[in-house]
Amino acid sequence: MDSEVDDFIVPSVLKACSQVLMIHLGRELHGFALKKDWILMFMLKDVVSWSVMVGGYSRNGLLDEALGIVREMQFMEVRPSEAAMISLVNLFADYGDKQMDKAMHGFAVRNVEKMGVPLTTTLIDMYTKCGDLASAVKLFGGLSKKGLVSWTVLIAGHIRCKELEKAIKLFRRMLEEGIHPNEITILSLIKECTSVGASELGSWLHAYVLRNGYCISLALTTALVDLYGKCGDTVYARKLFDRSKNKDVMIWSVMISAYAQVHSINQAISLFTKMRDSGIRPNQVTMVSLLSVCAEAGALDMGKWIHAYIDRQCVEVDLVLKTALVDMYAKCGDIDGAYRLFEEAADKDLCLWNAMFAGLGMHGCGKEALKLFVEMEKLGVRPNDITFIGLLHACSHAGLVAEGKILFERMFHRFNLVPKVEHYGCMVDLLGRARLLDEAHEVIKSMPIRPNSIVWSALLAACKVHRNSTLAEIAARKLLDMEPQHCGYNTLVSNVFAAANRWDDVAELRKVMKKFGMKKEPGLSLIEVNGSVHEFAMGDRRHSQIAKIDGMLEEMRKKLEESGYVPDTSVVLQNIDEEEKEFALNYHSEKIAMAFGLISTAPGHPIKVVKNLRVCNDCHTATKLLSKIYKRVIVVRDRKRFHHFRDGFCSCGDYW
Ligand code: ZN
Ligand code: ZN
Repeated sequence: MDSEVDDFIVPSVLKACSQVLMIHLGRELHGFALKKDWILMFMLKDVVSWSVMVGGYSRNGLLDEALGIVREMQFMEVRPSEAAMISLVNLFADYGDKQMDKAMHGFAVRNVEKMGVPLTTTLIDMYTKCGDLASAVKLFGGLSKKGLVSWTVLIAGHIRCKELEKAIKLFRRMLEEGIHPNEITILSLIKECTSVGASELGSWLHAYVLRNGYCISLALTTALVDLYGKCGDTVYARKLFDRSKNKDVMIWSVMISAYAQVHSINQAISLFTKMRDSGIRPNQVTMVSLLSVCAEAGALDMGKWIHAYIDRQCVEVDLVLKTALVDMYAKCGDIDGAYRLFEEAADKDLCLWNAMFAGLGMHGCGKEALKLFVEMEKLGVRPNDITFIGLLHACSHAGLVAEGKILFERMFHRFNLVPKVEHYGCMVDLLGRARLLDEAHEVIKSMPIRPNSIVWSALLAACKVHRNSTLAEIAARKLLDMEPQHCGYNTLVSNVFAAANRWDDVAELRKVMKKFGMKKEPGLSLIEVNGSVHEFAMGDRRHSQIAKIDGMLEEMRKKLEESGYVPDTSVVLQNIDEEEKEFALNYHSEKIAMAFGLISTAPGHPIKVVKNLRVCNDCHTATKLLSKIYKRVIVVRDRKRFHHFRDGFCSCGDYW
């Protein structure tokens, strides 16, 4: 190889490698370059080659390798230009890793002749991205000239770290020093507010703009619609939207995704219709929002219609849109449809693979997920931690205990990925489901990081199913210590106590919940009939066909009773008398949705319901029987997974 390689080829091959993710080849070339002194000689001179290597490694998430090169640069006394340094720091900043950032800072201080304002500002930004505000403030203090850009970066950083009061103080100080924000500054601060859900600060900035007579451009209005929409105030967002003139595709998309965010599928779709009527051509962002709202609502017919629309209108299907389509089909219960689309995709990125793994996991297709993972490995696609969450879920929902354990091992040993708390949660779930409760408890005890409430609630849920009250109590106490105000966990713990008839403990918990002003998250069930989505809450009386639904619920109750069904009243929280409990059970949102499904679809037609919470024990038992009584396939997607009820059985094997 020696004779044919000159100092022109290596950098360009390196660059090509970094662009097409051929990181293994890049790494080899890098090793080769190190071994050959003469190549090192040219690399010494060539800052670009070094930067390309750092960039390639960082973009592929190989930060250690990237940092290694930075060290080599240091050793070789390569001095990057300020511009090169800014792009290096930016690359590292996206990962928000404190140690790396410190190293980059040190490197910059030692190697850049004199750090100018742009580089210092980039470093400030980097520190705020990894949550080290103190270092950011210190750097900012040392700036000789504090311009608008540096102020903006510092204030935006404080918003990002949710130090909102300090952000306002800084904003005021900036004004005092005679620096006035321009529209770009305001825009970037509002965007930052949107991403952390700081609606109050966002509307404070909005008020500032109005008070000071700024001309509000379409871009700013769009950012504001996005802010109010993402913070859940779709009514106000819509007001701003309606008032804006010359609407472009962006603002339409943002408003549609605001509806998507709060799962208002019918409003999202009707706005989409309006958008088409006003002659605006939707883009990928619009389509992704619409597909996500269909996915959340489980509205397969609507999702299919949108898919057909995309084909008809020749909207370009990029990987993001492809992933949204796969996700929609999977979440709407059509896993085969999802798989067909996935297979069709010529080049697949990690997001697409991950969407497929998550889909297979939801449907309990553990074996298929593992097979696919082998394929992915063969193609040299490097998994990330999200991949493993999908895979471990898949193992868990399919009862593949041994396989799950192996995956968990390989995650660290083969792929160098340190398990996060979510992965431990999956392991506890996997073991708990298989009745290995003590082993699950051991996993928690052996965790090098502090177990969070998700891990303990996984154990608690398993204890509830396998009726282990000793461990349940341990888990329950931990949960209550950790998050006394979390309503969902309180409900879970209450359920455990209620099932054991410990009404005093239940009453005590209820007092706590009242004190903190907690309300149970209301259960909602959605069902799509003839292309529109109907929503039901517990005991809901709002539907126009409520009289017919009542009749059906009564019929269901009688038929269930005849088939020997006894209501499981232990799931009802209140210590009310038995008859009242039974009444409450009858009006759980999924039962109302099913009743509506039964009266409004043809016999034999499958019924699909989406619920925002976990299905309760009683509804699960009742649904199994109903699938047999009415000879219908009933598919329920709850917060965690799909349940396919058929002929008196459920695909989850009674564990969820
Ligand atoms: Zn229920
Ligand atoms: Zn089930």
